Amino acid sequence: MTMHEERCTVHDLDELQDWQRELRAQFPIVTGSPDLAYLDSAATSQKPRAVLDTVQRYLTTANANAGRGTYTWANATTALVERTRARVARFLGDPAPLERSGVHFTSGATEGLRAVARDWLPHHLRDGDEIVVPFADHQANALPWLEARDLLAQRGVRITVRELPYEAASHDYDPAALADLVTERTAFLAATHVHHVYGADMNVHRLRAAVGPRVPICLDAAQSVGHLPVDLGALDVDFLVFSGHKAMALPGTGAVWARNARGPGFRPGGWSGTPNTCGIASLEAALDWLDAAGPDRIRRWATALAARLTDGLYGAEAYEVLGCQESLAPDSAVQRREGIVTFRHRRISSNDLGFVLASHGLMVRADGHCQGRAGESESSVRVSLHVYNTPEEIDRLLAVLLTL
Ligand code: PLP
Repeated sequence: MTMHEERCTVHDLDELQDWQRELRAQFPIVTGSPDLAYLDSAATSQKPRAVLDTVQRYLTTANANAGRGTYTWANATTALVERTRARVARFLGDPAPLERSGVHFTSGATEGLRAVARDWLPHHLRDGDEIVVPFADHQANALPWLEARDLLAQRGVRITVRELPYEAASHDYDPAALADLVTERTAFLAATHVHHVYGADMNVHRLRAAVGPRVPICLDAAQSVGHLPVDLGALDVDFLVFSGHKAMALPGTGAVWARNARGPGFRPGGWSGTPNTCGIASLEAALDWLDAAGPDRIRRWATALAARLTDGLYGAEAYEVLGCQESLAPDSAVQRREGIVTFRHRRISSNDLGFVLASHGLMVRADGHCQGRAGESESSVRVSLHVYNTPEEIDRLLAVLLTL
């Protein structure tokens, strides 16, 4: 369990309100439907006007295929794709941008994790190796590694998949237990930056010391990129995979960043075909927008909104809030939820609660949230927040929840 270095509190809402109001006004879907509150940004984010305008401009002034033309529009598209690779590396704080590392575009985090599992991992593992993966995180960060194991077994290469250990109380990883698990045959570790159900920052900066300098680490940053500052210089990982569409870019966008320093270089296999040029244009614009808005302030805002919600539910007998319990007390020094709060009503099914909230214009996610095999077995309601959400939306939500 980790203390916050700079603790985000509900007071951040007062301090940041003018900044936030200006940013919220840039989301046409949000301002166009004031009776609705979109509370499902962990699934996908809404898009600011700058991103929408960029896509329209691209399609109306330069649309062509990339990497295969001699004329202006084709060359502009090729330049866009290469520029966006460099933009991704810069946004992530790649310490030596693209000198040795690489950026590969995908349709989202799932495809990114599968690309690492399919195109890199099998070339790296030898018979008898072990890999460590997180079975209580999103299944997109569990199933691809099991598929890789089964594929290798068909070729006579047997590897063992071990479970990344968690601290029971906080749901954070347990670096001491991880260190005990590591052997000279440990060849790969997969982890998650921010948990998509518990909203916990998983403190992944502690993992390198636990596994030592040799083991490649793949980080699922689907819930952190676009939500908080991400700095590859500080995170000594080898792959970072994220969803562009959860970070203000169009649906069908994402990327894998590969350090290419431990094991073979990452070369996505197969025929690559036409890239998602519109999506790539939107990703460049989204990263520009996020950098200008300030990932640290976005984090403070979303964390403060989440704290307003957990403070409001604190002591409400009817609700069980999932994840670290110690962090729920309004005066707790333990890190609070990163814009994601998931709960159950003790008598009303989560599915029914989802419908009730929808009837009040409150759009939440009610289901099992694709958790891996060691995750929650029952459905729950997830509220996930971004910079366009407001304290008033949280109060509206609480007003409904607390009457049930
Ligand atoms: N990993 C985490 C932690 C997620 O929350 C999600 C999406 O919900 C994914 C992976 C899958 O992302 P995508 O929808 O981009 O495939």
